[in-house]
Amino acid sequence: MDRSQKPVSRRDVLRGTAAGGFALGSALALGGNLTAAKAHALSLKVAGAKDVPSICPYCAVGCGIIASVVNGKVVNVEGNPNSPINEGNLCPKGAASFQMMTTPLRQLKVKYRAPGATQWEEKPLEWAYDRIAQLTKETRDRTFARTWKTTGADGNEVEKEVNHTLAIGSLGGATMDNEWNYVQLKLMRALGVVNIENQARI
Ligand code: SF4
Repeated sequence: MDRSQKPVSRRDVLRGTAAGGFALGSALALGGNLTAAKAHALSLKVAGAKDVPSICPYCAVGCGIIASVVNGKVVNVEGNPNSPINEGNLCPKGAASFQMMTTPLRQLKVKYRAPGATQWEEKPLEWAYDRIAQLTKETRDRTFARTWKTTGADGNEVEKEVNHTLAIGSLGGATMDNEWNYVQLKLMRALGVVNIENQARI
């Protein structure tokens, strides 16, 4: 070790940190320039873009986002300052939602293996939506019960009106926000589904 060099003490480190903080503070004090530069950089990225307000899909907080769209493609995602929930802020996950939309790894097809088949087939998402709707209707029609036999308070068998199907279940997830839960429950109740749960509760 070169003895001409004074060892760095804890106090030196603290002093250096304070100086760094002062430098940063000074820069922020002059921050009009930084803000203008940032705004300019952003304006280049989203120049001519259409702002589409949406909701972050990652969790039930439901933060508002603004997706900037150019020629049908999302080029940027920011927090929506008009959202009363997040007032323009996004957590790291929400801030990364741009990648979720643009990643080449995004799955746009489903894998389907027909009953008895040994091979998976690739099918479009629209095909899967129709298949789910079709199977839901078929299952409901086949299993819907208007009444249910049970034992009354007097011990005798009684037949009660139930209007339900026990063959379909609904399992919600933690990413479902208030509005989605409301609509999901309405749909399930209308179908006569009574086996309703949520992953966040289990
Ligand atoms: S993941 Fe983050 S940004 Fe998205 S809704 Fe939840 S808290 Fe908001």
